[in-house]
Amino acid sequence: MSVPSPTVQLMDTELAPPPDGGVEPFRERWPEAVGSLSPSRAGDFVSCPLLYRFRTVDRLPERPSVDAARGTLVHKVLEDLFDRPPEERTPVTAAAMLEPAWKVLVEEEPELTTLFERDGIADETALAAWLASCRAALERYFALEDPRRLEPADRELYLESMTDSLLVLRGIIDRVDLAADGAIRVVDYKSGRSPREGSEARALFQLKFYALLLWRTRGVVPHRLQLMYLGDGQIVSYDPDEQDLVATERKVEAIWEAISLARETGEWLPSPGALCRWCDHQALCPAFGGTPPPLPEAPASSG
Ligand code: SF4
Repeated sequence: MSVPSPTVQLMDTELAPPPDGGVEPFRERWPEAVGSLSPSRAGDFVSCPLLYRFRTVDRLPERPSVDAARGTLVHKVLEDLFDRPPEERTPVTAAAMLEPAWKVLVEEEPELTTLFERDGIADETALAAWLASCRAALERYFALEDPRRLEPADRELYLESMTDSLLVLRGIIDRVDLAADGAIRVVDYKSGRSPREGSEARALFQLKFYALLLWRTRGVVPHRLQLMYLGDGQIVSYDPDEQDLVATERKVEAIWEAISLARETGEWLPSPGALCRWCDHQALCPAFGGTPPPLPEAPASSG
């Protein structure tokens, strides 16, 4: 499913607003919502119900990581790049935007500096190596497409909608492109490497979730879903149809039912796997000899 990126000439147009002019009908029913779900939290539950609990019910803090920080910084540069006139959207401009964007990020999240400290002292060598890895990710982006030929309809687009079973779905789409013929492309940047053969379905779930949100709020099925892996310069793309989105909604509803059951029974089972390597909560996880804390009295019903 990994294919080289075609460069697509897109129009400088905007996505149509919701059919009712911006106030979506489900908002009137908001007080009846049974909960809310984002693709990330749904993915947490599918990977490991206990991880979902730690993040969404207990809301335990997690340490910053160099990989997550790289993702945040590269996303920010790619988002801001499209504020520049087309002719300035070059690798040189993007590379020059990196350090100023890092400074802003550190002002917003000062704890990120601890990623590049040794014994409490700033480790400039480690920071320089990490910034070089961010620069390399941006270079791979330019090998995949030419942003001078693109004019996204939306960036960091927040969408929410409600299913018939009163579950609020929400998500933020990195980029939405709109072609001259009205075809919509949903783009998501990943700073890591592309999934192994056979694991694309899990990666595409997030984009199908976004497509479902676009379909529900704008009444259109996106023509293409595109994941851009800047860790190894690969693209995974998929062209969904209405049946895919109906199936995605069913899957999301089933995940929510399983979450609701876990809330009722208090059974949040660990599911050890590849994710454990990056999990901050091993010390509290029975799979690693730990004991989870008592459940909070009034657990949050969103994720
Ligand atoms: S360590 Fe692994 S099994 Fe335990 S909560 Fe984290 S991801 Fe789940």
